[in-house]
Amino acid sequence: MVNRLIELLGKDKVSVSQSDLEAHGRDEGYPETAKPVAVVYAESPQDVSAVLELAAANDHAVIPFGAGTSLEGSLLPLKPTISLDLTRMNRILEVHPEDFLAVVEAGVTRKQLNERLRREGLFFPVDPGADASLGGMAATNASGTTTVRYGGMHQNVLALEAVMANGEVVRFGRPVRKTSSGYDLKDLLIGSEGTLGVITKLWVKLHPLPAEVHTLRVYFESITDAARGAYALMAAGLPVARLELVDEQAIAAVNRHLNRSYPEKPLLLVEFHSSTPAAVAAESEFAEELLRDAGAVGMDTAQTAEERTAQWEARHEAYWALVHMYPGREYLLTDTAVPLSKMPGLVEYAQKLMQEMQLTGNILGHVGDGNFHTIIAATAEEYPRAEEFSKKLVTRALELGGTATGEHGIGLRKMKFMEAEHGPALAWMRRVKQAFDPAGVLNPGKVLPSAE
Ligand SMILES: Cc1cc2nc3c(=O)[nH]c(=O)nc-3n(C[C@H](O)[C@H](O)[C@H](O)COP(=O)(O)OP(=O)(O)OC[C@H]3O[C@@H](n4cnc5c(N)ncnc54)[C@H](O)[C@@H]3O)c2cc1C
Repeated sequence: MVNRLIELLGKDKVSVSQSDLEAHGRDEGYPETAKPVAVVYAESPQDVSAVLELAAANDHAVIPFGAGTSLEGSLLPLKPTISLDLTRMNRILEVHPEDFLAVVEAGVTRKQLNERLRREGLFFPVDPGADASLGGMAATNASGTTTVRYGGMHQNVLALEAVMANGEVVRFGRPVRKTSSGYDLKDLLIGSEGTLGVITKLWVKLHPLPAEVHTLRVYFESITDAARGAYALMAAGLPVARLELVDEQAIAAVNRHLNRSYPEKPLLLVEFHSSTPAAVAAESEFAEELLRDAGAVGMDTAQTAEERTAQWEARHEAYWALVHMYPGREYLLTDTAVPLSKMPGLVEYAQKLMQEMQLTGNILGHVGDGNFHTIIAATAEEYPRAEEFSKKLVTRALELGGTATGEHGIGLRKMKFMEAEHGPALAWMRRVKQAFDPAGVLNPGKVLPSAE
């Protein structure tokens, strides 16, 4: 296989170095690893087609690889596999400020795109904690701290180009803000975790950088009060641009990891974006009132743009802060999302359950979207208990009408919840997979548990 790949694509694009194989058989959150047979660095859709055709003819799997920052085991090879790395397809092809539109190759990362957009006064809002690739973000339907205002990948990818399992290069969707034309296959590919097609190009929606930004840091005595405060803001219809919950353990870890001195109490980070100072002042004044009523015991604001950036960096680093606090442990993340009014109750349940099960971890998340994470730091002995915790939390979220995963995807880890979450719709998902990839070349064994 390796010789055939080299014949087909040239030596420069194929790697079998041990470090490359290891780096492509793992992600940032799943405990197991496995090496692919080879890594191919694709430089064009034609390279992708060639690999898919060769793999299909030789019963090999192909797993697209973006930045490798996913968390649920979706990059792990389960049979002889070619890892198809898209990082060399990293050109920003077009920027159209007048249409708030950019066209990028799949390997462009979110930070790379935003660096380029700054001079236009524009930005791409979807911000998972890691500097992920746009192709990988589309493949997992990523979201982040600004999704409460600007939406996630479904809302911000207008069209995409993908190479299908049979090698055909196809464009899905049109680069417009609305369309009612035909079946929405663009949105079917978004969130498909490399199981339906390899995304090679994206038409993405841009937003003007807000003229006025105001950030509040609001402290509470209990995490339940903080969650209730977040709900109060959403229920009042305030146009928050970011609304994040961080518990005291996560703040303690951030303080230690980044040498900061934030008060170690449950915290809400609230941000408003507006075009005039008056609007932003009115919104934050109303928010402060609601948060005081909800039990806020302290409040301050980020005074400068630098302080604001440092604060969001700290939020994004919360995962690594916890990992550094407990070196050598295994980390198990949950990612439940529930209807908004149910979020405070689920946060309270998660905290109590963690205490009852004597697990070490923290709670943080995008509570304005009803989505939060628990991150359990477990010793090898505690890991089965952490899995039990995750199962109980997801079961409760499903009972409340929610989902096992608001943004990280299914991968391998969450396949066990698919039947309970989707019921008969799972059989329709299997039919879709069969129609798109009858030979099972694309990331087989992920997302959909086997019918047996
Ligand atoms: C510290 C930290 C914080 C995070 N915070 C968030 C968060 O707030 N929100 C969030 O949504 N996620 C978050 N994540 C998870 C991760 O960053 C996202 O899942 C991200 O979208 C993955 O992108 P990637 O480029 O790294 O994809 P990869 O990890 O390389 O791949 C992920 C999946 O997509 C497939 N894939 C990759 N590229 C393509 C392509 N071009 N075509 C088709 N399939 C493809 C892969 O086969 C795999 O199944 C976080 C991760 C870390 C480590």
